[in-house]
Amino acid sequence: MINFLIFAGRYHNYVSSYFIYIIPAMLLSLYAQFKIQAVYREYMGRLSSLGRSGAEVARAILDKNGLRNVNIKEVPGTLSDFYDPRDKSLSLSKDISDGTSIASVAVAAHEVGHAIQDKESYPMLNLRSLMAPAVSISSSLAMYLILGGLFFNFMKLFDIGIILYGIIVLFTLITLPVEFNASRRALNEISAMPGVNEETIYGSKKVLKAAALTYVAAAFAAISEILRLLSMRRRDD
Ligand SMILES: [Zn+2]
Repeated sequence: MINFLIFAGRYHNYVSSYFIYIIPAMLLSLYAQFKIQAVYREYMGRLSSLGRSGAEVARAILDKNGLRNVNIKEVPGTLSDFYDPRDKSLSLSKDISDGTSIASVAVAAHEVGHAIQDKESYPMLNLRSLMAPAVSISSSLAMYLILGGLFFNFMKLFDIGIILYGIIVLFTLITLPVEFNASRRALNEISAMPGVNEETIYGSKKVLKAAALTYVAAAFAAISEILRLLSMRRRDD
Protein backbone atom coordinates (compact mmCIF):
# COMPACT_ATOMS: atom_id res chain seq x y z
CA MET A 1 0.00 0.00 0.00
CA ILE A 2 2.77 2.39 0.96
CA ASN A 3 4.55 1.47 -2.23
CA PHE A 4 1.41 2.25 -4.08
CA LEU A 5 1.05 5.70 -2.43
CA ILE A 6 4.67 6.57 -3.18
CA PHE A 7 4.13 5.41 -6.72
CA ALA A 8 0.94 7.46 -7.01
CA GLY A 9 2.81 10.56 -5.79
CA ARG A 10 5.55 9.95 -8.26
CA TYR A 11 3.09 9.31 -10.98
CA HIS A 12 1.57 12.68 -10.23
CA ASN A 13 5.04 14.26 -10.61
CA TYR A 14 5.49 12.24 -13.74
CA VAL A 15 2.34 13.71 -15.27
CA SER A 16 2.82 17.30 -14.08
CA SER A 17 6.45 17.34 -15.24
CA TYR A 18 5.07 16.43 -18.64
CA PHE A 19 4.07 20.01 -19.29
CA ILE A 20 7.38 21.61 -18.26
CA TYR A 21 9.66 19.22 -20.09
CA ILE A 22 7.74 17.52 -22.83
CA ILE A 23 5.51 20.21 -24.35
CA PRO A 24 8.40 22.41 -25.60
CA ALA A 25 10.09 19.33 -27.08
CA MET A 26 6.85 18.29 -28.73
CA LEU A 27 6.33 21.74 -30.21
CA LEU A 28 9.85 21.82 -31.63
CA SER A 29 9.40 18.37 -33.07
CA LEU A 30 6.06 19.31 -34.67
CA TYR A 31 7.63 22.45 -36.11
CA ALA A 32 10.55 20.43 -37.50
CA GLN A 33 8.16 17.95 -39.11
CA PHE A 34 6.11 20.74 -40.61
CA LYS A 35 9.23 22.52 -41.88
CA ILE A 36 10.81 19.48 -43.55
CA GLN A 37 7.55 18.56 -45.25
CA ALA A 38 6.99 22.10 -46.54
CA VAL A 39 10.56 22.59 -47.77
CA TYR A 40 10.68 19.09 -49.24
CA ARG A 41 7.43 19.64 -51.13
CA GLU A 42 8.64 23.00 -52.45
CA TYR A 43 11.99 21.73 -53.72
CA MET A 44 10.62 18.45 -55.07
CA GLY A 45 8.80 20.76 -57.46
CA ARG A 46 11.89 22.65 -58.61
CA LEU A 47 14.28 21.09 -61.10
CA SER A 48 17.96 21.34 -60.30
CA SER A 49 20.24 22.88 -62.91
CA LEU A 50 22.39 19.73 -62.90
CA GLY A 51 19.99 17.93 -65.26
CA ARG A 52 20.64 14.62 -63.54
CA SER A 53 18.64 12.34 -61.26
CA GLY A 54 19.47 11.86 -57.59
CA ALA A 55 20.96 8.43 -58.36
CA GLU A 56 23.12 9.86 -61.17
CA VAL A 57 24.37 12.68 -58.97
CA ALA A 58 25.08 10.19 -56.17
CA ARG A 59 27.00 7.95 -58.59
CA ALA A 60 29.06 10.87 -59.89
CA ILE A 61 30.02 12.05 -56.38
CA LEU A 62 30.77 8.49 -55.23
CA ASP A 63 33.02 7.83 -58.23
CA LYS A 64 34.78 11.16 -57.83
CA ASN A 65 35.59 10.18 -54.25
CA GLY A 66 36.93 6.75 -55.18
CA LEU A 67 33.80 4.92 -54.01
CA ARG A 68 33.00 2.83 -57.08
CA ASN A 69 32.42 -0.13 -54.74
CA VAL A 70 29.36 1.53 -53.18
CA ASN A 71 26.14 0.22 -54.76
CA ILE A 72 23.03 2.32 -55.12
CA LYS A 73 19.73 0.56 -54.32
CA GLU A 74 16.17 1.75 -54.55
CA VAL A 75 14.01 1.37 -51.41
CA PRO A 76 10.28 1.96 -50.82
CA GLY A 77 8.98 4.92 -48.83
CA THR A 78 9.39 8.68 -48.66
CA LEU A 79 12.57 10.17 -47.19
CA SER A 80 13.61 6.63 -46.28
CA ASP A 81 17.08 7.19 -47.75
CA PHE A 82 20.17 5.96 -45.92
CA TYR A 83 23.73 4.76 -46.29
CA ASP A 84 24.58 1.40 -44.75
CA PRO A 85 28.26 1.16 -43.72
CA ARG A 86 27.95 -2.61 -43.18
CA ASP A 87 27.40 -3.57 -46.81
CA LYS A 88 28.60 -0.25 -48.30
CA SER A 89 25.31 0.44 -50.02
CA LEU A 90 23.36 3.59 -50.63
CA SER A 91 19.59 3.16 -50.41
CA LEU A 92 17.55 5.86 -52.12
CA SER A 93 13.77 6.19 -52.24
CA LYS A 94 12.17 6.38 -55.69
CA ASP A 95 11.52 10.15 -55.53
CA ILE A 96 15.14 10.81 -54.69
CA SER A 97 16.69 8.18 -56.95
CA ASP A 98 14.74 8.97 -60.12
CA GLY A 99 13.85 12.60 -59.45
CA THR A 100 15.78 15.48 -60.99
CA SER A 101 14.54 18.06 -58.51
CA ILE A 102 16.69 20.11 -56.16
CA ALA A 103 15.38 18.05 -53.20
CA SER A 104 16.32 14.76 -54.95
CA VAL A 105 19.84 15.95 -55.64
CA ALA A 106 20.34 17.37 -52.13
CA VAL A 107 19.14 14.26 -50.29
CA ALA A 108 21.11 11.90 -52.57
CA ALA A 109 24.28 13.97 -52.08
CA HIS A 110 23.73 13.99 -48.31
CA GLU A 111 23.64 10.19 -48.21
CA VAL A 112 26.84 10.10 -50.25
CA GLY A 113 28.24 12.39 -47.55
CA HIS A 114 27.81 9.48 -45.11
CA ALA A 115 29.57 7.11 -47.54
CA ILE A 116 32.53 9.51 -47.69
CA GLN A 117 32.55 9.75 -43.87
CA ASP A 118 32.72 5.96 -43.77
CA LYS A 119 35.61 5.88 -46.23
CA GLU A 120 37.51 8.50 -44.24
CA SER A 121 36.68 6.78 -40.92
CA TYR A 122 35.08 9.97 -39.64
CA PRO A 123 35.36 9.48 -35.84
CA MET A 124 31.81 10.55 -34.95
CA LEU A 125 30.36 8.09 -37.48
CA ASN A 126 32.51 5.29 -36.05
CA LEU A 127 31.40 6.16 -32.54
CA ARG A 128 27.80 6.20 -33.66
CA SER A 129 28.11 2.76 -35.28
CA LEU A 130 29.84 1.40 -32.16
CA MET A 131 27.00 2.67 -29.98
CA ALA A 132 24.20 1.25 -32.13
CA PRO A 133 23.88 -2.16 -30.38
CA ALA A 134 23.89 -0.55 -26.90
CA VAL A 135 21.24 1.89 -28.08
CA SER A 136 18.95 -0.86 -29.29
CA ILE A 137 19.24 -2.68 -25.93
CA SER A 138 18.69 0.58 -24.05
CA SER A 139 15.64 1.50 -26.10
CA SER A 140 13.86 -1.71 -25.18
CA LEU A 141 14.94 -1.81 -21.49
CA ALA A 142 15.35 1.73 -20.13
CA MET A 143 11.70 2.65 -19.60
CA TYR A 144 10.82 -0.70 -17.94
CA LEU A 145 13.66 -0.24 -15.46
CA ILE A 146 12.78 3.40 -14.77
CA LEU A 147 9.06 2.78 -14.24
CA GLY A 148 9.72 -0.52 -12.43
CA GLY A 149 12.17 1.29 -10.12
CA LEU A 150 9.55 3.91 -9.34
CA PHE A 151 6.80 1.37 -8.78
CA PHE A 152 8.80 -0.84 -6.42
CA ASN A 153 10.55 2.17 -4.88
CA PHE A 154 13.82 0.54 -5.89
CA MET A 155 16.04 3.42 -6.89
CA LYS A 156 18.97 1.26 -8.02
CA LEU A 157 16.77 -0.08 -10.78
CA PHE A 158 15.66 3.46 -11.60
CA ASP A 159 19.30 4.61 -11.81
CA ILE A 160 20.29 1.78 -14.14
CA GLY A 161 17.35 2.76 -16.32
CA ILE A 162 18.55 6.37 -16.31
CA ILE A 163 22.06 5.32 -17.34
CA LEU A 164 20.62 3.30 -20.21
CA TYR A 165 18.47 6.24 -21.19
CA GLY A 166 21.62 8.38 -21.07
CA ILE A 167 23.11 6.18 -23.81
CA ILE A 168 20.12 7.03 -26.01
CA VAL A 169 20.55 10.74 -25.29
CA LEU A 170 24.26 10.55 -26.12
CA PHE A 171 23.43 8.78 -29.37
CA THR A 172 21.03 11.53 -30.47
CA LEU A 173 23.74 14.11 -29.66
CA ILE A 174 26.49 12.28 -31.58
CA THR A 175 24.08 12.05 -34.51
CA LEU A 176 24.15 15.85 -34.84
CA PRO A 177 27.78 16.35 -35.96
CA VAL A 178 27.45 13.27 -38.20
CA GLU A 179 24.42 14.76 -39.97
CA PHE A 180 25.76 18.33 -40.14
CA ASN A 181 29.05 17.07 -41.54
CA ALA A 182 27.33 14.90 -44.19
CA SER A 183 25.28 17.91 -45.32
CA ARG A 184 28.37 20.13 -45.47
CA ARG A 185 30.08 17.55 -47.67
CA ALA A 186 26.96 17.30 -49.84
CA LEU A 187 26.82 21.06 -50.37
CA ASN A 188 30.52 21.23 -51.25
CA GLU A 189 30.08 18.45 -53.80
CA ILE A 190 26.93 19.96 -55.34
CA SER A 191 28.57 23.40 -55.54
CA ALA A 192 31.50 21.89 -57.47
CA MET A 193 29.36 20.03 -60.02
CA PRO A 194 29.24 21.15 -63.64
CA GLY A 195 26.07 23.05 -64.50
CA VAL A 196 25.26 24.06 -60.93
CA ASN A 197 23.51 27.40 -60.44
CA GLU A 198 22.70 29.63 -57.46
CA GLU A 199 19.15 28.34 -57.06
CA THR A 200 20.30 24.72 -56.86
CA ILE A 201 22.84 25.56 -54.16
CA TYR A 202 20.41 27.75 -52.23
CA GLY A 203 17.59 25.17 -52.43
CA SER A 204 19.88 22.29 -51.44
CA LYS A 205 20.97 24.30 -48.42
CA LYS A 206 17.35 24.86 -47.41
CA VAL A 207 16.42 21.18 -47.79
CA LEU A 208 19.45 20.00 -45.80
CA LYS A 209 18.91 22.60 -43.08
CA ALA A 210 15.28 21.51 -42.65
CA ALA A 211 16.40 17.87 -42.44
CA ALA A 212 19.01 18.81 -39.81
CA LEU A 213 16.33 20.47 -37.70
CA THR A 214 14.52 17.14 -37.30
CA TYR A 215 17.70 15.70 -35.73
CA VAL A 216 18.03 18.73 -33.45
CA ALA A 217 14.40 18.23 -32.38
CA ALA A 218 15.04 14.54 -31.65
CA ALA A 219 18.08 15.39 -29.50
CA PHE A 220 16.14 18.09 -27.68
CA ALA A 221 13.29 15.64 -27.00
CA ALA A 222 15.69 13.04 -25.60
CA ILE A 223 17.38 15.62 -23.33
CA SER A 224 13.99 16.91 -22.13
CA GLU A 225 12.86 13.40 -21.30
CA ILE A 226 15.95 12.53 -19.27
CA LEU A 227 15.75 15.86 -17.39
CA ARG A 228 12.14 15.11 -16.57
CA LEU A 229 13.03 11.67 -15.27
CA LEU A 230 15.92 13.08 -13.22
CA SER A 231 13.66 15.77 -11.76
CA MET A 232 11.36 13.02 -10.46
CA ARG A 233 14.31 11.35 -8.77
CA ARG A 234 15.37 14.53 -6.98
CA ARG A 235 11.91 15.38 -5.73
CA ASP A 236 11.60 11.99 -4.11
CA ASP A 237 14.92 11.82 -2.32
ZN1 LIG B 1 22.11 11.67 -42.77
